[in-house]
Amino acid sequence: IVRYENVTKSFGDLEVIKGIDLTIHAGEKLALIGPSGSGKTTLGRMLMTLEEPTSGMITIDGEPLWHMNNRRGQLVRANEKHLHRMREKVGMVFQHFNLFPHLTVLRNVTLAPTTVLKMSKEEAHERAVTMLRKVGLESKLDVYPAQLSGGQKQRVAIARALVMQPKVLVFDEVTSALDPELVGEVLEVIKEIAQETDTAMMLITHEMDFAKDIADTVVFGAEGRIVEQGCPTELFDNPKSERLRSFLSRFL
Ligand code: ATP
Repeated sequence: IVRYENVTKSFGDLEVIKGIDLTIHAGEKLALIGPSGSGKTTLGRMLMTLEEPTSGMITIDGEPLWHMNNRRGQLVRANEKHLHRMREKVGMVFQHFNLFPHLTVLRNVTLAPTTVLKMSKEEAHERAVTMLRKVGLESKLDVYPAQLSGGQKQRVAIARALVMQPKVLVFDEVTSALDPELVGEVLEVIKEIAQETDTAMMLITHEMDFAKDIADTVVFGAEGRIVEQGCPTELFDNPKSERLRSFLSRFL
């Protein structure tokens, strides 16, 4: 459902993504691993429409994200309306939670369904409670983010992304900002969700065991290119490139 075709991205003179082709199939859980600065987050942000590719194309369900067909059927740069519509197909969970501090847990989760999807308050409430139950936070509905631990905040952020029923969910290093003892509970929640939903997922992570555990496909990128990709056992147990071997040796 997601396709990157020959995508590049530069920030000024710095070419961060150097021509990437990548497909995420319906329901696929794809883990993106690689050294710091290799462009993983940038790949996710382009899918989330937070960054525009310098060249190449990203499509969701065959529809270009950054372009649209005009009346003559030519591809032109997308307008805000098109981007908004495409944006609804992608959910993202960030490293730093990005919750609204002045809203309760429940309101954090119901806000987008009521404003963006124009869902009724009742329906949004019902769906939000279901999602918050799923992440083990049904007892925290009326609490504000400041009263939660980092792991709990991240679980709210996961519920908030899920409630929009996106086609694809991007998890961007969602445990990097957490105290080590809180990492497990968040990974466990993601694992459960991965097993029970058919939403496609892009998991940008430094947690190799986690990637091995839940991913159908692992993609190893370095310096803006994909170096290897395959099923977890292939990549972790039998890395072909010296690059991946030396990267993985740091996690032993
Ligand atoms: P990490 O694992 O450390 O998060 P990453 O693989 O996710 O790294 P990116 O965050 O995508 O890497 O960054 C890739 C490169 O692009 C880095 O050198 C970063 O400094 C640069 N970069 C990212 N965003 C911007 C920006 N908005 N402006 C300028 N440079 C940027």
